[in-house]
Amino acid sequence: MIDRRTLFVGAAALPFAAPALAAAPPSGRFAVSFTPAQWQQKLGKDAYAVLREQATERPFTSPLNKEKRAGTFTCRGCGQPLFSSAHKFESGTGWPSFWQPISKAAIGTNVDRSYFMVRTEVHCSRCGGHQGHMFDDGPKPTGLRYCINGLALAFVPAKAA
Ligand SMILES: [Zn+2]
Repeated sequence: MIDRRTLFVGAAALPFAAPALAAAPPSGRFAVSFTPAQWQQKLGKDAYAVLREQATERPFTSPLNKEKRAGTFTCRGCGQPLFSSAHKFESGTGWPSFWQPISKAAIGTNVDRSYFMVRTEVHCSRCGGHQGHMFDDGPKPTGLRYCINGLALAFVPAKAA
């Protein structure tokens, strides 16, 4: 027989019951939505792991780290413009870094408690695709550092005038 006390303790313990190793994907509905199988086919294994399973690419592996041309970084999942070359900086972390998104509406954030840390998760507001994390140790003028997986982005160079 289950008494009230057991039930209460069980319910209260729930949020901490699962080992928080992988971050939960952003919840809610997004304008662009596919089934996991469709995403997998569209993105390929590596980009799928980052965008849809909150994986982090190995540092210094993305060609976009060294991308210095003027242009726009779009979401690899849905093509929404997320970051501008005007806000990119060399953080030395091995991941493409920006001090602000192209617009506030372009990204959504979540509290990520995985890996025994509390971090701000950053995702595309249109498809929910995981992009990376935001930290408060970035350069002026915002003091923010958007640490983004190159696999989650595509680069569109600005047209030469
Ligand atoms: Zn997207």
